[in-house]
Amino acid sequence: MAESGDQDLLQRFVFAHADVRGEVVRLEQTFAETVARHDYDPAIRSLVGEGLAAVALLAATLKYPCSLNLQLQSPGPLSLLLIQGRTDGTMRAMARTRESVPEQTSLDALAPEGTLAIMIEPLEGGERYQGVVDLRGGSLASALEHYFRESEQLPTRVWLSAQSTQAAGMLIQRLPAEGGHDSRDDDAWQRAGMLAETVTGEELRALPPREMIRRLFHEEDLRLFDPTPLRFACRCSRDRVAAMLEGLGEAEMRATLADEGVVEVHCDFCNAPYRFDAVDIEALFTDPAVRSPESHESH
Ligand SMILES: [Zn+2]
Repeated sequence: MAESGDQDLLQRFVFAHADVRGEVVRLEQTFAETVARHDYDPAIRSLVGEGLAAVALLAATLKYPCSLNLQLQSPGPLSLLLIQGRTDGTMRAMARTRESVPEQTSLDALAPEGTLAIMIEPLEGGERYQGVVDLRGGSLASALEHYFRESEQLPTRVWLSAQSTQAAGMLIQRLPAEGGHDSRDDDAWQRAGMLAETVTGEELRALPPREMIRRLFHEEDLRLFDPTPLRFACRCSRDRVAAMLEGLGEAEMRATLADEGVVEVHCDFCNAPYRFDAVDIEALFTDPAVRSPESHESH
């Protein structure tokens, strides 16, 4: 297939004569690479896929270079789901569970009393933003719709689907009408919702975004933007891990060394191993070049 290198795309569109915009995303390679590095149960794996699609949709609504985190926490079997995406199209994800979960576990059962937090950090300076809502509605898509109602106050509908190695999502949003209220926009928003509602998860996962949009909205006058390619990328490094170990403190590092002979840390996102032996740990806590000003005081 000619498009084999372009499977992971996000396609944005707007209704030409109404204040309605939308996005469709489809991920294969990004999703496959994210979950290949971990041994997740199928229910968790699907949730990671939905989370990747969700973050791609959310990041595409941002106008400046930003990093966006979607974080789901609960006292239930799923303790943490963290999906990170950037406006440059790179993404990574991790999930932590307290126990193994059966294949068809609902989000309510995975994350009872959970919260969903969205954090946006501009990469070129500026204020951080964080919005937190209770996890409700039984799916990540419903939780996001709830988030948009609470935080952005823009009517928004979200569809997410993930299975096997395909993850996909769609978002439609009603924008504030320019120059006051226009009743024609009510019709367009209702129509967009009714057309979008006919989509199945299977179609969303199977069809390229552009084709998906054409099929759903073929009678509408749409404007399509250039698609955004998406890919898995981790930003972990030995320096960052060293800084994290330094933060844990010399006593704890020496204790681990004494017990295990080496300090080995795996990146939570990409599972890359980082090994620090006795010499490395010694250097971490004595070499002024790698020592932070705060840790200086402890000597
Ligand atoms: Zn990593």
